[in-house]
Amino acid sequence: MDLELVVVGAELLLGFTPDRNGAHLGRRLAELGVTVIRRTTVPDRVEAIQDAVREALARTRAVLVSGGLGPTDDDVTRPAVAALLGRPLRFDQRVWDDIVARVPQPATIPRSQAEIPEGAEVLPNRWGIAPGLWIEAADGLVILLPGVPSELDELLEHTVAPRLRARAGPVVIRSRVVRTTSLPESVVAERTRPLASELAPLTLAFLPGPLGVDLRLTAWRLPEFEADAALQHGVERLRAALGEHVYGEDEDDLAAVLLSVLRARGLHLALAESCTGGLLGARVTAIPGSSEVFLGGVVCYADRSKTALVGVSSDLLAARGAVSREVALAMARGAADRFGAEVALGVTGVAGPTGGTAEKPVGLVCFGWLVPGRAETDAVVFPGARHEVRERAAQYGLFRLLRLVAV
Ligand code: ATP
Ligand code: MG
Repeated sequence: MDLELVVVGAELLLGFTPDRNGAHLGRRLAELGVTVIRRTTVPDRVEAIQDAVREALARTRAVLVSGGLGPTDDDVTRPAVAALLGRPLRFDQRVWDDIVARVPQPATIPRSQAEIPEGAEVLPNRWGIAPGLWIEAADGLVILLPGVPSELDELLEHTVAPRLRARAGPVVIRSRVVRTTSLPESVVAERTRPLASELAPLTLAFLPGPLGVDLRLTAWRLPEFEADAALQHGVERLRAALGEHVYGEDEDDLAAVLLSVLRARGLHLALAESCTGGLLGARVTAIPGSSEVFLGGVVCYADRSKTALVGVSSDLLAARGAVSREVALAMARGAADRFGAEVALGVTGVAGPTGGTAEKPVGLVCFGWLVPGRAETDAVVFPGARHEVRERAAQYGLFRLLRLVAV
């Protein structure tokens, strides 16, 4: 079943409150097999709400409206929708009694709060004041839910979800995400293009970010078993096409994947960070149980700290410059010695926006990786603002280290 969302609230349009209800409803309705085909945000104004609901019904014959059901003057959703549907508001004694029984100071609640459009079904709200409403109108289904996120969630789960699931039938909309890194989006697209017909009826979305490109496969309105089987097959095909650039699925974090490989091999990690300033240490220690594998790291930002803390010689710094493969590797060696680790990573670069030269431009980051029996270095120019260069550098450092220890 298709449905449109109308999200009411001037604060959402002003950008002070991010639309959390739209996001939550989108995810939750998909699980119920309901396709949200459009989401419209409107201010708390009668005509704006009416226009949005009228258009949604004309297109889709089912609309869910969030917000503006409360007792204050800026809450106009109920009268707006009642007028649009030509259903006069009627005072409902049972709704009123219910409110009076639950609120501490009923005198502060206007009686209009219990006025219900003719023929609407009341969805009792045990978590707040304003009840939800379910209206089977001539032009389609109209569901009104309060805007307070916790109330919307409870009403959705307890009352609306079972009804919608019954309407949508025994189908689900389900996604799985394959996470890749260190491949440009264009290359990911090129490698996966030949799979398009084989992946059908799943859709494939590319979600690029500073840490890599996530690929989201979605099964739309399939029986649950069919959806899961198609997704599993799709994930395997994507993994085969993208090889070592796939580091995980769904919420997997590259740092966690790396730590589990190090743990399985009985290896310990040390870090020496310059331009990432502790970002790598933070990524690693964000993973529960990292203490079994991670011995420690140093942030050695100034040249003299690279010498004092991880023993990079001042001759090397003078000869190659702080941003060089040689210094990055010397940092890794120094960290490995200091912490007694078998595996180490040194990172030094020009995060910008200033400090670049023709030879060493902004975004240049040098890496040194040390694993048992092997050392590697690399120099990469990352695009983006300072924080993106740092994030991309941390991710690349982890990615190459995973490749080195996973073989
Ligand atoms: P109430 O009975 O509390 O007045 P209501 O149905 O009238 O409920 P609103 O007045 O629209 O809901 O919003 C109440 C609170 O919930 C506000 O703080 C508002 O910012 C928040 N809220 C409403 N809609 C959303 C949304 N889409 N995303 C996040 N917060 C929201
Ligand atoms: Mg309100």
